Amino acid sequence: MARHIFGKELDVTKLKSNVLSDLNKHIGKIHFMMDELKNIGKIVTQPKCFICNSTKSSHFSNVYGFEYVECSDCSHVYTQTRYRDEDIIEFYTENATYSQVTYANKETCNYRRDCVAKPKFDFVIDNISGIPSTKKWLDVGCGIGDLVSVANDSGWDCTGLELSRHSIAFSKEIFNQNLVQSTLEDHAAKSNDRYDIISFIGVLEHVINPIKHLEITHELLGQDGYVLIQVPNALSMSTFTQDIFPNTVFRHMSPVEHIMLFSQTSLEKALTLTGFEPVVYWWHGLDSYEILNQITLLSKEEIHNTKFNNAWMKLMSEIQLVFDNNKLSDRILCLAKKI
Ligand SMILES: [Zn+2]
Repeated sequence: MARHIFGKELDVTKLKSNVLSDLNKHIGKIHFMMDELKNIGKIVTQPKCFICNSTKSSHFSNVYGFEYVECSDCSHVYTQTRYRDEDIIEFYTENATYSQVTYANKETCNYRRDCVAKPKFDFVIDNISGIPSTKKWLDVGCGIGDLVSVANDSGWDCTGLELSRHSIAFSKEIFNQNLVQSTLEDHAAKSNDRYDIISFIGVLEHVINPIKHLEITHELLGQDGYVLIQVPNALSMSTFTQDIFPNTVFRHMSPVEHIMLFSQTSLEKALTLTGFEPVVYWWHGLDSYEILNQITLLSKEEIHNTKFNNAWMKLMSEIQLVFDNNKLSDRILCLAKKI
């Protein structure tokens, strides 16, 4: 039986200062990105569940003209229409706005490295059964290489794969990391390396073939290897909030980026199908931050210095812990062992 850990202290003002300072501008950037993808991409239908291939589903939510449905067999949530694989890959490779909006921000990158990536690294180290002598780690879709930087500074030999050339340049400049511009599939075809840990932090929800990613991962891992996965939680307070405010979504249930959201059931299904066993889950998220943002957007007045805002900011972590304790946090982080 897998263990479950709940909650994490987080100061969102340090991580998301750029967002809180101007939410409307941020939503504008998301809409701009959506238009850019619309210009280069072609929409196709997704007829079946990405995880279990079931064609049975029911309506889940509508966001920006995309319908999310819930798989009747494994409760995976996915968009019924999406852009083609080649459009998605081109978008992530070339789009500077996407790279900046998500991670490549000089004001927040050190906080992200020390307070977001480092705890995930520690979570892995604390929960694997002994440190392997080879210490080889592969971080797939590594963004600006914050986790890669933490692992390498801690004596691991960590390779970071990333598509975005903007994020790769940013990582070299800020963290002095040499990321590899490649998909997992291409890397596996070219390299004979085997790894002790392979991580996917916010990656599988972007790709059209999550099961194939996990199958390749199984092959690339040594006998006692682990996979670390972070995916958006479909059954979270952020999802439920965005379901009632679909016109101001700018993260999480954002259909251009996240063509699927996982449930614990669908994630376990994916792991079981590909030869993994969950060891430990860590439930934490940004749902209290999401609710504050949506209330801020609803108000026509600037609310940043109001009593409401000050009280909410003070209680943010405590409110979040209630959601985390009930597995309603907007992300699922899972460490699973190869079997
Ligand atoms: Zn399914």
